[in-house]
Amino acid sequence: MTMTISFKELGLAQPLLQATEALGYTQATPVQEKVIPAAISGGDWMVSSQTGSGKTAAFLLPLLNQLIASNPNGKPVPGRAEPQVLILCPTRELAQQVSTDAINLVKFARGIRIATIMGGMPYGKQIAQIKGANLVVATPGRLLDLCNSRAIRLDKVKCMILDEADRMLDLGFQDDIEAIHELCSARGQTLMFSATFAPRIMQLATSLMNNPGRIELASAQDRHENIAQTLHWADSVAHKHKLLDHLLSDPTIEQAVVFASTQVDSETIADSLRADGHQATALHGAMPQAVRNRRLQSLRKGQTRILVATDVAARGIDVPTITHVINFGLPMKAEDYVHRIGRTGRAGRSGVAITLAEHRDRSKIRAIEQYTQQPLQAEVIPGLEPQEKSRKPSHRPGSGRPGRSFGGKGGSNASNRQGEGKSFKQNHFGKPSGPKFAGSGKPSSGPKFGGSGKSSSGHKRSFA
Ligand code: ADP
Ligand code: MG
Repeated sequence: MTMTISFKELGLAQPLLQATEALGYTQATPVQEKVIPAAISGGDWMVSSQTGSGKTAAFLLPLLNQLIASNPNGKPVPGRAEPQVLILCPTRELAQQVSTDAINLVKFARGIRIATIMGGMPYGKQIAQIKGANLVVATPGRLLDLCNSRAIRLDKVKCMILDEADRMLDLGFQDDIEAIHELCSARGQTLMFSATFAPRIMQLATSLMNNPGRIELASAQDRHENIAQTLHWADSVAHKHKLLDHLLSDPTIEQAVVFASTQVDSETIADSLRADGHQATALHGAMPQAVRNRRLQSLRKGQTRILVATDVAARGIDVPTITHVINFGLPMKAEDYVHRIGRTGRAGRSGVAITLAEHRDRSKIRAIEQYTQQPLQAEVIPGLEPQEKSRKPSHRPGSGRPGRSFGGKGGSNASNRQGEGKSFKQNHFGKPSGPKFAGSGKPSSGPKFGGSGKSSSGHKRSFA
């Protein structure tokens, strides 16, 4: 029996208590319970907790609390483009979502203005919006553009937050983040959040922070027990298409995200699904932003059943009604797998993640299993069995590296795969496990991802 803590006990200002109540948050999630007092007490923090565990409010609430405290009478702020709080996100979709969350949390507060800065949208409106904004949520490329043209200054920033921090510090964003770090070097606080922190980014992370404290919820083994993960081996891409068509016919799927490895693949897969009678639409970073917004909005409203996306949708996106994630193309990195499947099973719900893999993807599958320290249960669909007989169990008990074995879970994660409610140890959301599992299998496979499109100008910004 874990203790639960209300937001009131965390010492948040009245308008924030009203807002959390209006949002239906009855108690703080474990990460919120740890982070809110830590962030309010000051200093730098590096925080990891699983996808869907409420990290956004974990950073927004203490920051907004400080903004409210520094302006207790809610006086209108002067119209300068000099924010005190800067939140950076890797994609435009995530920046918009975090902004929306922030706006919902300040509904009952006065004197707090929030602006969103991101590529793909007209400059004029953004430049007008940042005047007088205390809190800015941005993707790095457009933010630097606006800094360079002096439409915004970052020298009054007191706190910089990197959401999906390991992605922000990885190749592609690194240089921009270092530049932004310099522009707000007078700040007193840096906070980093992610479900994963790859070792390769740790040095850069610590170089941007000042003796950071570490908050880590749920070990790798404990993560994602609420997401039933399976695997389907396929002989070819054509075979994967047949498996996908079959899997998506499952009526227990409320909404699904199918991940593709490239932008072209995402369109091809969506086309072929539509030809098979599914209601599917594609989402990738080369589409005009207005189209991207419309398509994600349609998913949020429940008007789209299947979204076929590149990794542009792998991080942060919160659509609680997504019951299934299917990896049609395999992620490039094992940690991307964790973020992709984390689009389902959010806020204490259950979810299903199915990976389609070709036999040549065996080593990638093994890398994922080692990373998550969980075997991926291989399943077959009668009539769609792989012909190639090279299949061996994707996991042999005891085959993990010393010290990294899958031990403790036995060779099977079957017990995690039925929604018995015990599955999500830290279910502090007070919701019953959500959708039931379909008992379907899944595979994963595929080439490198296209969402980031290093292509055009060869740099990071294309992802945002
Ligand atoms: P993360 O960033 O950890 O992946 P999010 O911050 O996107 O997770 O939150 C996941 C979901 O949980 C969101 O739909 C959010 O509204 C909901 N949520 C956050 N905090 C609470 C809470 N205290 N009680 C109930 N639901 C919450
Ligand atoms: Mg998040």
